[in-house]
Amino acid sequence: MAIENNNVVTLNYILHTIEENGEKTFVEQTTTENPLTFLYGVGMMLPKFEENIAGLNAGDKLSFELEAADAYGDRDDKAIAQLPADMFQEIGLPPVGEIIPLQDNQGNQFRAVVIEVTPEAVIADLNHPMAGKKLNFDIEVLSSREATEEELAHGHAHGADGTEAH
Ligand SMILES: [Zn+2]
Repeated sequence: MAIENNNVVTLNYILHTIEENGEKTFVEQTTTENPLTFLYGVGMMLPKFEENIAGLNAGDKLSFELEAADAYGDRDDKAIAQLPADMFQEIGLPPVGEIIPLQDNQGNQFRAVVIEVTPEAVIADLNHPMAGKKLNFDIEVLSSREATEEELAHGHAHGADGTEAH
């Protein structure tokens, strides 16, 4: 059935970021053995992503782009943290480029990328790795069905056929 709210959608996608010079950089892709399954219209996905695939049916293919503002937002050059080196006493200082898990005062977990390491501090970029980037999706819809009562009650999909345990 055509994709609409409260459908469970299974699809394959290939995600690239598009650099300012127009060059594409491969980020990730799903496979038919391990596709993306989600409950459509409940805010699990980027709203513009859902908008682009509305009304598609199984077998449909589509390529579309999302502006940074409609994806992971613009980069915030102030979103840089200086973490005291003491924090890393037990695990050792991370190398530049490593992605480290952090937690804010509210207990929200997020990832930061190490951009500099000094004897006193680890400097980490708190921006989402895809912040400021335009995204390109190539998708193929594998299936679209009505969600079960249980899926709607839980607010998420239970696998492509609705029987997956969790
Ligand atoms: Zn559930």
